[in-house]
Amino acid sequence: MNNSNTIPEYNGNYNSCEHETIGFSGKRRPLTVVYLGHPDSPLRIFIIAGQHGDEKYGRKAVIRLITSLGNSFNSYFPSVRVAILLDANPDGSFRKSRTNESGIDLNRDHQRLDSDETLTIHHFVRAWRPHLIIDVHNYPSRRRHLLAKNLVINHDLFIDFPTNPAISHSVDDTPKNEFLKTIQSDLKSLDFICERYTIVKPSGRVRHSTPDVIDARNSLSLRYNTFTVLLEGRNPTREEGKAGREHIISAQYQALCAILKWVQEHQDLFTDSRKYVPTEKDKIAIRSKYRRADQPFRMSLKNSITKMTDVVAFPNYTPYLEITKYIELPSAYAVPLDKTKVIEILRRHGFLSQFPNHSKVERVEYYIIQSVKPSTRENRSPRKILILVKTEQKRLHNFIIFPINQEGGHSLAVFLEPESKYGLHRYNNMNLSIMPNTHYPILRVL
Ligand SMILES: [Zn+2]
Repeated sequence: MNNSNTIPEYNGNYNSCEHETIGFSGKRRPLTVVYLGHPDSPLRIFIIAGQHGDEKYGRKAVIRLITSLGNSFNSYFPSVRVAILLDANPDGSFRKSRTNESGIDLNRDHQRLDSDETLTIHHFVRAWRPHLIIDVHNYPSRRRHLLAKNLVINHDLFIDFPTNPAISHSVDDTPKNEFLKTIQSDLKSLDFICERYTIVKPSGRVRHSTPDVIDARNSLSLRYNTFTVLLEGRNPTREEGKAGREHIISAQYQALCAILKWVQEHQDLFTDSRKYVPTEKDKIAIRSKYRRADQPFRMSLKNSITKMTDVVAFPNYTPYLEITKYIELPSAYAVPLDKTKVIEILRRHGFLSQFPNHSKVERVEYYIIQSVKPSTRENRSPRKILILVKTEQKRLHNFIIFPINQEGGHSLAVFLEPESKYGLHRYNNMNLSIMPNTHYPILRVL
């Protein structure tokens, strides 16, 4: 692979490459995708850079991929076609802000799809049907609570995988671990330190990425069965200077190459994963809780004073998810027509729907909420829901039907079940709030 030392700066000159405008930002800036590789390649990989406008090194790394490999891409990756979204948030990057022009954090908008930018990404994924998505970010090496202990993060790269337990995927734990190990050792041979994405909370608790479905990693994996990898490069510090900046761009570029290489060598895992279409009675995980590991998590961090590497043990390490609720899929969900916001969101996600046959009586299940313990935090689902399930025969006037036997139909359970931790009911503007002694308005068609 070309290991050039000069940094080709992004000069907007991707015109010699095949490219396409796939949509526009809120401020009507183009969202541009550059394609590399043969159009008929069996493996399609979509790389998203710059959802957070203030993370420029990820954007530079994808430009590096284009300028370094460019015309020779086919010879390295004969089975791969990539689509690279150069800047997912051009309004944010223009203003050097994390959010878009309307203040929306795009990587927290993949469930509601309120922004033009995330909506464009989802439209593109539905049309182009990638087998793998890589979401490229940067993260700060300095965290106030770690600095208070004279510690800074000194990994070059963090990688993480989809973690929501409802995600159906053929890339399960064994290949995931092998994937991570291979990428780590490829990068280590180039002197880059790569770890699984790890958050140290001010409380000292340590975890990996959350199972919530608001980010690209979990949302795109759940909705389209497309394995989505998070690739975070550390932001270089000022004292690391130009060499430090080059080091991080190079780390992210090499990580992209290592990922493409591994995926090309294991392409069946990724092409097969797209095939799952749910059927009635499939069991879907809708609630889980973190479970603590027996052993502390040991992480090497840099001492900001001595500049030496310290191995720090964190006893409160929660790497596991214990599933606390499964639900059996009905044949469809029936949403009342007056729940316009819910219907709008399901449509933004491209779910197919149909109007009911008015002459037909359907057997449906409905929920009666008996008691509930509301969350004290905004946009969080309630904790203890006691529910009664009833069955009745009903004509579904004033409902719209979302069948589950469609691509990603199992996500409907995550979005619509009242006991789902990541249900749409958690958002106040959905008009779906879960109150004691009420009927939950969405029905399960049996
Ligand atoms: Zn980010």
